[in-house]
Amino acid sequence: MSDLTRKTAAELAELMTSGQASSVEITQAHLDRIAAVDGAVHAFLHVDTEGALAQAKAVDDKRTAAKKSGEQLSPLAGVPLALKDVLTQEGVPTTAGSKILEGWKPPYDSTVVKRLKAAGIVILGKTNMDEFAMGSSTENSAYGTTHNPWDLARIPGGSGGGSSAAISAYEAPLAIGTDTGGSIRQPGAFTGTVGVKPTYGGTSRYGLIALASSLDTPGPCARTTLDAALLHEAIAGYDPMDSTSINQPVPAVVEAARNGDVAGLRIGVVKELGGEGYQSGVEARFHEAVELLTKLGAEVVEVSCPHFEYALPAYYLILPSEASSNLAKFDAMRYGLRVGDDGTNSAETVTSLTREAGFGAEVKRRIILGTHALSSGYYDAYYGQAQKVRTLIARDFAKAYEQVDVLVSPATPTTAFAIGDRIDDPIAMYKNDLCTIPSNLAGNAAASFPCGLADEDGLPVGFHVMAPVMRDDLLYKVGAALESALAEQWGGVLMTKAPELEVTR
Ligand code: GLN
Repeated sequence: MSDLTRKTAAELAELMTSGQASSVEITQAHLDRIAAVDGAVHAFLHVDTEGALAQAKAVDDKRTAAKKSGEQLSPLAGVPLALKDVLTQEGVPTTAGSKILEGWKPPYDSTVVKRLKAAGIVILGKTNMDEFAMGSSTENSAYGTTHNPWDLARIPGGSGGGSSAAISAYEAPLAIGTDTGGSIRQPGAFTGTVGVKPTYGGTSRYGLIALASSLDTPGPCARTTLDAALLHEAIAGYDPMDSTSINQPVPAVVEAARNGDVAGLRIGVVKELGGEGYQSGVEARFHEAVELLTKLGAEVVEVSCPHFEYALPAYYLILPSEASSNLAKFDAMRYGLRVGDDGTNSAETVTSLTREAGFGAEVKRRIILGTHALSSGYYDAYYGQAQKVRTLIARDFAKAYEQVDVLVSPATPTTAFAIGDRIDDPIAMYKNDLCTIPSNLAGNAAASFPCGLADEDGLPVGFHVMAPVMRDDLLYKVGAALESALAEQWGGVLMTKAPELEVTR
């Protein structure tokens, strides 16, 4: 394997600045790695070989010209990235993991993609995901499951399992995910990588195929805290094309990632997120990480967020309600698949035949749930009540942040489970997101950082940090502190302990 795929994004940027490697070389090394291992991992749904190499060449040319003109290139110019297949990229197939969008090529770039391109970041291709981002394992993808590079018999998490698996398999140093209930953080935890859900409204939703519009948040995936921060900075910031975008300066995330000083930082351990139902190895690594932060000078206290226990049921009313409205646009007339259009069927029949054939079981389940929750006579009892719970959860956070700067918990109750293990049990699958959902409901910033391997299965454990709205910098501060303290123990980041993948092609 080429050495270049083992480098962090920051190191690759340095190699290009100093003229030791070109973006074309770096991009080609990652394309070769994808060709070698993605047969086994299946992180990608589409690899844009030509497009990526053309982007890389353009950055190299720009760098040559900049040497003469003195122009500064963006910090990540020329670094390759994997993009979750839920964000539009002009002319590149985008499916959101669904058959209903098979063959659709978006006519425009999402804001995230526009910013990636403006920063000279090279998009290698689109990554696998649960259909319309509904799921925790990528098993709901219409295009097959992604495998966890730590153990190919296990799921990589979801919905953005493809993005996290791609960086964990060294197919890309960076990836973009989207987090509605945990879809960046949970796959991050399961693959031994960093996953950050920025503050809701801190990154633009324009061109993101909507799951639940009041929760969806694009964010960075990387193997190190600094790389995640660099990517965060490249994509974040106000966008007039998204009505919920926050018009404030981007928090100083890169600075925080470079300076992981937690002395005096007040950290609250959420009492309700742990204990019964949590895997012992997950709890052990979590508590050791808390201990480590205490040694580094953080003040740790226990904090109670009593309404968090209602977060999961509230989420599974709010999310399906919004999803059922958002997915109504897939009517066979405007995008992708059309079934039964033979001149004899009515438009209504074509729509229903298309939706029957084009949507998978989990999508149908949530459309039915959401349509029911919004129906007249039930609206107040379900959707209305869930919105009230949402307010109570936001108040729990506000109260907690009066006492502490950040909150922490395990990222997930367990480590990555076996493929097939929970696919027939939706409730067991939903429970993956117990720790991550509250931050989505409140719009907080939150992230998962690798904190070790569970003794019983040797699989990665994620340390979850939650910070107030627009204090995303605090996540990186804690992540950086943990990363450097653990690197001393481990001799590198957790990913260096991952088993070598067998080259299949
Ligand atoms: N696993 C959660 C769900 O199935 C979260 C999904 C997400 O964040 N997109 O809804």
